Amino acid sequence: MMGLMQQMPLNISSLIVHAEKHHGDTEIVSRRVEGDIHRTDWAGIARRARQVANALDGWSLALGDRIATLAWNGYRHLEIYFGVSGSGRVLHTINPRLHPDQVAWIANHAEDQVLCFDMTFLPLVQKVHAQCKTIRHYVALCEAAALPADTGIPNLVSYEAWMGQQRPTYDWAEIDENTASSICYTSGTTGNPKAALYSHRSTILHAFAAALPDVMCLSARDSVLPVVPMFHVNAWGIPYSCAMVGAKLVFPGAQLDGKSVYELLEAEGVTFAAGVPTVWQMLLGHMKPAGLRFGTLQRTVIGGSACPPAMITAFREEYGVDVLHAWGMTEMSPLGTLCTLKNKHQSLPPDQQMTIRLKQGRAIFGVDMKIVGDDGQEQPHDGVAFGDLLVRGPWVIREYFKGEGGDPLRDGWFPTGDVATIDADGYMQITDRSKDVIKSGGEWISSIDIENIAMAHPAVAMAACVGVKHPKWDERPIVVVVKKQGLEVSRDELIDFYQGKTAKWQIPDDVVFLDAIPLGATGKMLKTELRKKLIDYKLPGT
Ligand code: ADP
Repeated sequence: MMGLMQQMPLNISSLIVHAEKHHGDTEIVSRRVEGDIHRTDWAGIARRARQVANALDGWSLALGDRIATLAWNGYRHLEIYFGVSGSGRVLHTINPRLHPDQVAWIANHAEDQVLCFDMTFLPLVQKVHAQCKTIRHYVALCEAAALPADTGIPNLVSYEAWMGQQRPTYDWAEIDENTASSICYTSGTTGNPKAALYSHRSTILHAFAAALPDVMCLSARDSVLPVVPMFHVNAWGIPYSCAMVGAKLVFPGAQLDGKSVYELLEAEGVTFAAGVPTVWQMLLGHMKPAGLRFGTLQRTVIGGSACPPAMITAFREEYGVDVLHAWGMTEMSPLGTLCTLKNKHQSLPPDQQMTIRLKQGRAIFGVDMKIVGDDGQEQPHDGVAFGDLLVRGPWVIREYFKGEGGDPLRDGWFPTGDVATIDADGYMQITDRSKDVIKSGGEWISSIDIENIAMAHPAVAMAACVGVKHPKWDERPIVVVVKKQGLEVSRDELIDFYQGKTAKWQIPDDVVFLDAIPLGATGKMLKTELRKKLIDYKLPGT
């Protein structure tokens, strides 16, 4: 017997309709590339999203056509999010930090028809447009008057002139919920990037899940600042979840330095923020010397790479802000796990609570996960046994765009490329990416553990642990360190610092000091590049 409930497709347009109807006067605040602070609300975003949809219809763009952006977090980007997907086109947020050749490669691969870009990226677009074979229209996200006369870019209009003239009414099409809504390319640290193609259904289900109390706990009482870029896995889905719950959104634009972010957090009563560890490092680095405090910030989600314990401690103990460690990936829309304590953990001593908080967290409802050994056998959930982490769920990819790379699934499960443990309470902890694993004398060493210890040293700004060849042990770990400006630590002091903090055989054999560690387009350490830099390095005594 079938249920007798209404069949309403899960469409992204329903989010903006809901936000306008029930939270129309809730503010959306943006620091613009023009330099000022811009204020609108959900009703304003909804109206202009409809104008964007009309403008796209005016260019006779087919359903499913890809509309690309090269843009910071801001209200115009948000209007495009809803205008594009709501009208049945596919939003393609390109990461502007990629190499220009890669930007062009991605635009061609996605067969983008339109590229909307912030004026910051005018030089980038000038560099790549000749290589972008499928783009028919360029839209500069500015007023008509701000558009220079001779940019050399064909078919270029200003956003305000293009969409500003359009009717503010639009009938959002009812779309099959499995239709594609947006596309994101992985950062492609190994080979050409591949793309995850999200659907309306996967986006809405992910938005529900992200808002849950033990996930981001988003509500109409929140003021939310996503530092995580809207070009990085749709800002972890925050724009959609905020529309769903009617939260205030605060966008930092291009200014992600500690001072600018701090000012916005305070001026806009921000209660919740999200970003990768490097961003928070800049924020704390600004606040500490000046003795600044948070007025309203309650919690922050940190993910994208392992959150150093020192950061969790600083936020919690010095500033009273709850840090929620999160894990996910482009292929997972991106949320997989988030770390919050269970009731039975509330009475544990702080150091035991900290052990839990450092883990990447428990699976969000909708995400199923397991760890398997080299032989494919499932490993026990005892917090000790580790294995390849596999996931499945309605917002996990089935295959990559255009079938790139063949069938990625193993018996219906997506292999994440991460190595992890899962404990009896379901808390997952990443020990490494599989390609970064260090094997010494037949035993695995977690590079994340080794990095976290170094990061706890007051003079260390950044640390990367890599394995180097060893005649007896196969591989031994060394730690590459960037020192904080004006602070000193020697090799021997740092090696000493490890004593008692990890098993003796896991202590790195050497420390290499560098001025910088190569970072990828999403702010993660590029260990492949780092290994190239260390190609001539020899372990002492070998
Ligand atoms: P890419 O896979 O292209 O680098 P993603 O942004 O999708 O880009 O990165 C996903 C990967 O980032 C995960 O597979 C994992 O290795 C890493 N990652 C994400 N969050 C965390 C975290 N909290 N701790 C450790 N690693 C993380």
